Amino acid sequence: MNPSAPVVALAGGVGGAKLAVGLAEALPPGALTVIVNTADDLTLHGLHISPDLDTVMYNLAGLSDPAQGWGIKGDTTGALDLLGRYGGPTWFRLGDKDMATHIRRTQRLSEGARLTEATAELCGALGVRSRVLPMTDSPVATRVQTPEGELEFQDYFVARGTRPRVTGVRFQGAETAKATPEAAEAIDSAGTIVYCPSNPIVSLGPILAIGEIEERLRRPEIPRIGVSPIIGGSALRGPAADMMKSLGHEVSALGVAEILRDYIDGFVFDDEDAPLLPAFGERGIAARTAPSVMTDTPSKKRLAIEVLGFAEEIRNQAPAG
Ligand code: GDP
Ligand code: CA
Repeated sequence: MNPSAPVVALAGGVGGAKLAVGLAEALPPGALTVIVNTADDLTLHGLHISPDLDTVMYNLAGLSDPAQGWGIKGDTTGALDLLGRYGGPTWFRLGDKDMATHIRRTQRLSEGARLTEATAELCGALGVRSRVLPMTDSPVATRVQTPEGELEFQDYFVARGTRPRVTGVRFQGAETAKATPEAAEAIDSAGTIVYCPSNPIVSLGPILAIGEIEERLRRPEIPRIGVSPIIGGSALRGPAADMMKSLGHEVSALGVAEILRDYIDGFVFDDEDAPLLPAFGERGIAARTAPSVMTDTPSKKRLAIEVLGFAEEIRNQAPAG
């Protein structure tokens, strides 16, 4: 085992950020790179907002609101309230401190910085020691098909509270999106890849929809471990379960593992779902259960250690060479 071999984790927002914190705690400083979904990004008030990048950054910086999992703890909304009085949209909640992140990011992008560079600067300033990379610097936007028509992701997710039934999802721009040199290099030199317990359809899906990333993730020579966001047939929060169901997937840890099947060598899911272990065996997916509800830093770190330990077991079983 080489504990300093770089670990690449793929993440969306809240679920992904929790395991990212655990991995950062469990690994030596600098050993973790988190590649984050940007297909939820939006422009509001003239600002470029990257909700999943911000969630991961605030969590790794120890600034996040523990109850919500996103946003900055103790933040206020004076700016948003006044924007509302001016007639601006207020359905997407933005805190006052949080607003500084979007202002600074937008400024740096307008000066010609890439999103990867702007993200590195923000994270550096907040003392984040792990590397946080957007999945791409190219624009990619999730579109959700529903009986109410095709919706922009945040319209579906926030404005409509994930109520519409999802009949299809597409990632506009993913076909032509490029891998950044930073993300390509991180994946190529990774010793372990972890799929965080993020929504497999709209958080991990966009990352896998980028051809230049997807090809690189096909690295069966290193252990690649998925972690289930579905526990006991439901998501802890958000629409993952409903979305999996309406798109025809089994709503279980096994259903998530099937979605990720071509990219994983092992899968971790909650102890509560241990009765699924024989089904994993039948399908030839190496699996293990662990306490997977992450409520505080110790529980995040504990799950991360389980995931990394499982990866080492798989590495040691693999034929040498
Ligand atoms: P979003 O972009 O903020 O929606 O975040 P993600 O896609 O990263 O995370 C949403 C998923 O995280 C949901 O499907 C949740 O079930 C899952 N999740 C949240 N907290 C936990 C946790 O403590 N443990 C596990 N296993 N999954 C979690
Ligand atoms: Ca998200």
